[in-house]
Amino acid sequence: MTEKHRPARDFEHVEAWVFDLDNTLYPADCNLFAQIDRRMGEFIANSFGIPLHEAQRLREAYYYEHGTTLAGLVRLHGVPPDDFLDYVHDIDLSAVAPCPQLVAALGALPGRKFIFTNGSRKHAEAVAERLGVTGQFADICDIHALGYLHPKPMREAYQRFVSAHDVMPRKAAMFDDLPHNLETAHAMGMTTVLVHGLTEHPEHRAMTGWTELPAHIHHRTEALPSFLAAIGAALAADRAELSPVPPAQAQFCLT
Ligand SMILES: [Mg+2]
Repeated sequence: MTEKHRPARDFEHVEAWVFDLDNTLYPADCNLFAQIDRRMGEFIANSFGIPLHEAQRLREAYYYEHGTTLAGLVRLHGVPPDDFLDYVHDIDLSAVAPCPQLVAALGALPGRKFIFTNGSRKHAEAVAERLGVTGQFADICDIHALGYLHPKPMREAYQRFVSAHDVMPRKAAMFDDLPHNLETAHAMGMTTVLVHGLTEHPEHRAMTGWTELPAHIHHRTEALPSFLAAIGAALAADRAELSPVPPAQAQFCLT
């Protein structure tokens, strides 16, 4: 696969670092989404009194027709969002290990950092706690804030996010494991980074056939912490190079 290795100065303009949560802030091989998927099916099966295989079919249909399973359940059946979210996010997070390298890399980036997820704030907080990155984020924009019916990749989701947090898209970088979520980010002028991970998600499976990155994906990484650390180090080196000469030395130079 041809990768685009652009210099880290592609990120010099970035003031807001925006991260998807699941399979982005933690590696896809933690496989949390398999647990969430199973619980979504169980929730539908229990709520509607239908067999699990039928519930999974419905879940998939709602995901593709409405952007998320929840959007379909709310729009078509008036399901209380918190009932669904509390059930599906009641999972075992022990596969998510503390990540001091991610903590340090986030801390070294200048500007505000956000989590922007189609999941719930409660789930995002629990995962952030496991990773050890809780204090690194200015805020979490979750599916409650998106009004349930307007998840990523809908443009309305991104518009809600940028207006709520006064983020200028041209000065933002968006990190996500799903290529379609980066299409809208790119269209709005954000710098985009695909955090590559393979799961059973059809979009992940499709990526195995890529021979080059689609135009809307500017960067790609398989290891978010080291990718961010490299950007932070390059930005710090650039700043040091550009920093003014200390006053004492400046005086000496003028004499
Ligand atoms: Mg994700």
